[in-house]
Amino acid sequence: MSEHIHQVAIIGGGVCGTALLYLLSEYTDIDDVVLIEKYDGVAKVNSHGRNNSQTLHCGDIETNYTLEKASKVKDAAEMVVNYTASLDNRDEIIFKYPKMVLGVGERECQLLRERFEVFRTRFTTMQLLEKEDIAKVEPNVVMVNGELRPEPCVALAVLDEYCAVDFQKLAESFVAEAQKSESTKLNISMHSHVEEILEKDGIFHINTQDKSIKAKFVVVSAGGHSLLLAQQMGYGLEFSCLPVAGSFYFTPKVLNGKVYTVQNDKLPFAAVHGDPDVLVEGKTRFGPTALLLPMLERYNLGTFFDFLRVLRLDKGVLKVFWDLFKVSDIRNYIFKNFLFEVPGLRRWLFLKDAKKIVPSLELKDVEFAKGFGGVRPQLIDKKKSILMLGEAKINPGTGIIFNMTPSPGASSCLVNAEVDMRLITEHLSAVIDEDKLQAVLHK
Ligand SMILES: Cc1cc2nc3c(=O)[nH]c(=O)nc-3n(C[C@H](O)[C@H](O)[C@H](O)COP(=O)(O)OP(=O)(O)OC[C@H]3O[C@@H](n4cnc5c(N)ncnc54)[C@H](O)[C@@H]3O)c2cc1C
Repeated sequence: MSEHIHQVAIIGGGVCGTALLYLLSEYTDIDDVVLIEKYDGVAKVNSHGRNNSQTLHCGDIETNYTLEKASKVKDAAEMVVNYTASLDNRDEIIFKYPKMVLGVGERECQLLRERFEVFRTRFTTMQLLEKEDIAKVEPNVVMVNGELRPEPCVALAVLDEYCAVDFQKLAESFVAEAQKSESTKLNISMHSHVEEILEKDGIFHINTQDKSIKAKFVVVSAGGHSLLLAQQMGYGLEFSCLPVAGSFYFTPKVLNGKVYTVQNDKLPFAAVHGDPDVLVEGKTRFGPTALLLPMLERYNLGTFFDFLRVLRLDKGVLKVFWDLFKVSDIRNYIFKNFLFEVPGLRRWLFLKDAKKIVPSLELKDVEFAKGFGGVRPQLIDKKKSILMLGEAKINPGTGIIFNMTPSPGASSCLVNAEVDMRLITEHLSAVIDEDKLQAVLHK
């Protein structure tokens, strides 16, 4: 058992944990940080390129965001773009494609036209594309057999900005940059599954399967498992977790960039979109679906039991389920998403959704993307009986923080890490190099 006490321990080597590792080593005088990860490398779970939609969310094509939320997301995404600016391997991490949100039918077209007037002031490169303009960028979206599709269509588009990220490569680059820091002693503990965290006299004892690691401050960025570790310590008992898995489908290359669809505002989950896959050349990836799945990690059956431990089923949780099920749009959507997983049926059903984006798609074009997809750990606030969308943080103020980061958590990794960096430096009376932070990440 090591007697050494690290200044900061980060549990979870996804894009969020590694972003914090980078910030602490590059912009603070904290000189001893340990990253603890249960797998043999970073970003093997939700931050892996296979498991998320690879979108750098900027708020312009996500119609479920208000202007206020979109502005925040845009600032967060700009930090990622600024960070990559000086990297030698930038081209392997972040990608430029045309992107748009497509409106189909009178109602959606009207909604996008109104949205354009509000959003163009903040998103100055945004364009309103009529059907003929869309055809120049994404011919397969509006052309069928050489003719324009009959329904009214418009799109809000941004044609030349970074919008896709390999979040695993981003996480690896955070570690590589942190390792360059001469003033910080960096410890990376892979294959270390954290089983419990105990606090004794202001020091945290992090017990893995084979060792105990001590630290003055702990940040847990372990996806749905953050809640499990928090609840073991008696924190966050007012929360439950609803894991929402997302699957994907491949077609041959039919799109040049990202094409999102208008969100049904009754549904709490993102609408289906299609885009090039940065890991699989020559294919277009459609998705994600939204499947309620009793597991904290996709394709990891063992996490079923972890789910049961964080579910903490009671009246508050049941009320949230009831509220979801009683809205017919949500109920139908949940059932449809179950069917999306049924072999034989799923391709046929999904085709109907994908045809909204590319009307000429046929059943033979669509294949289920086996092994792709992740789980969004959406929290339920049991006291308020609400499903919480977006990120959540449990900060008891004792020197430990637990982060749960569903979408757009990967896009917001640096801004969220900055919040944690400020909490840590305050607690440890450490100093941030504000000038450097402004010059590199907030320029
Ligand atoms: C289908 C889908 C699509 C998405 N699309 C997008 C998108 O396009 N854009 C976007 O910005 N976001 C997207 N997201 C969200 C994004 O993937 C997450 O917000 C982000 O990856 C979260 O990063 P993280 O580091 O918090 O978690 P993770 O990447 O899940 O990392 C958590 C880490 O903790 C480790 N860990 C867990 N428990 C322990 C333990 N006990 N001991 C040690 N280590 C542990 C895990 O092994 C893992 O490495 C999507 C998510 C899903 C599911």
